[in-house]
Amino acid sequence: MTATAERPRLGVFGGTFDPPHVGHLVVAQEVLHRLALDRLLVVPAAVPPHKRDQPVTGGAVRLAMARAAMAALDRVEVSDLELRRDGPSYTVDTLRALRADHPDAELFLVLGADQVRELDTWHEADELRRLATLVVFRRAGQDPDPPGAVATGELLEIEVPRLDISSTEIRRRVGAGEPVRFLVPEAALEVIEREGLYREPHAAGA
Ligand code: ATP
Repeated sequence: MTATAERPRLGVFGGTFDPPHVGHLVVAQEVLHRLALDRLLVVPAAVPPHKRDQPVTGGAVRLAMARAAMAALDRVEVSDLELRRDGPSYTVDTLRALRADHPDAELFLVLGADQVRELDTWHEADELRRLATLVVFRRAGQDPDPPGAVATGELLEIEVPRLDISSTEIRRRVGAGEPVRFLVPEAALEVIEREGLYREPHAAGA
């Protein structure tokens, strides 16, 4: 076995996780398996750069929900790296911090097709590509083809089982008094109930 093959493989999966749901767990499980990761860090974003016009649940509560939800999976850790930082959380800064903390690790940045479409607008996108292997997960039969970058071989692609569920839909259902059990891991649901989250009906897309 070469020295390269022995480098720990560390995945990074960012998002708002407001709230986390079983779609996120399925992605986490699938990338751990397909990329043979030693560890996957789930990183809730502090000030989601793309969602500033929408109300977002406070970081401490999203962190608690993510930790509760992800406890169901081995080798997955929830990191408060971005929540501890002041100002907007740029993914490139997160990768730099992880690179400094784990100099030997091979980094894999796990992105949804929606995130990849915006990649070129991201802060220091080129540096991002240098720091980590980009992995896009596509929902079987659902996500449209990602943009041209894929054709150049800059991205690894992983297909994940399709679950038609989103945090937006969970918030809507809670607001409307509809059941969300089995869509949100039980432990995260306890946080939602305890904190009284999403009771105000949310506009579609909010
Ligand atoms: P919202 O509805 O608030 O936009 P979301 O459900 O998309 O939230 P995010 O926290 O934005 O959740 O998700 C982080 C990543 O997980 C995104 O890349 C998103 O595409 C992906 N994701 C969300 N839901 C699913 C799902 N059902 N299956 C696969 N990936 C998902």
